[in-house]
Amino acid sequence: MSVTEAVAALDREISECRACPRLVEWREQVAIEKRAAFRDQTYWGRPVPGFGPADASMLIVGLAPAAHGANRTGRMFTGDRSGDVLYAALHAVGLASQPTAVHPGDGLELYGVRITAPVHCAPPANKPTPAERDTCRGWLERELDLLSPTVRSIMVLGGFGWQALLPVLAGAGWSIPRPAPKFGHGASVTLQPSGPGREPLELFGCYHVSQQNTFTGRLTPAMLEQVLADAARAGGLSPTGP
Ligand code: SF4
Repeated sequence: MSVTEAVAALDREISECRACPRLVEWREQVAIEKRAAFRDQTYWGRPVPGFGPADASMLIVGLAPAAHGANRTGRMFTGDRSGDVLYAALHAVGLASQPTAVHPGDGLELYGVRITAPVHCAPPANKPTPAERDTCRGWLERELDLLSPTVRSIMVLGGFGWQALLPVLAGAGWSIPRPAPKFGHGASVTLQPSGPGREPLELFGCYHVSQQNTFTGRLTPAMLEQVLADAARAGGLSPTGP
């Protein structure tokens, strides 16, 4: 089986997962109740797998899908304001085929980049419990294992995603320094392999693309594009941005 086929099989397996009772109930309840603006649409209402090529050299990691964004459309960061900001920036630095992400059939392609999350189901109040994070960890460890031949950098969106990702990386074959590296916008650290079949990995922190950050100017498009471009270069890509 090729890596592309293995990743596609993993994505299908993830989308069938029902391991967290609270999240299963929540994602399905949201899909039935819907937001008024989307009442004519059929929500995905299931775990959201990663999006992007299986031979990506850079990963973008958030925390979990949004209730009316990815939980509605079934694709990471697709169909909400956070995604609007993220995909516009990816397009601005030449890593996405178009600046908008509306639904899975919109033709969007990512170049050398894959977007995923340590928790694949939308949680109430955007807050998974520690137990839910631990339960979901195995999916991202398997994804990282499949991507490890090519992935060389990771951009993490937000401190919660950063905290959730470090134990995943430890489980997937990289050493986490002690004390653990702290999240910050523009923070970066090189992680060394702890086992065979792994290469050094450059980890970058970026403020989350939430409306709370982008509407207040805490995270501007220029700031986002800078970290994207830095992480892309660390992954061996050639962004067109800053
Ligand atoms: S959060 Fe992860 S482990 Fe829990 S039900 Fe969703 S996909 Fe499964």
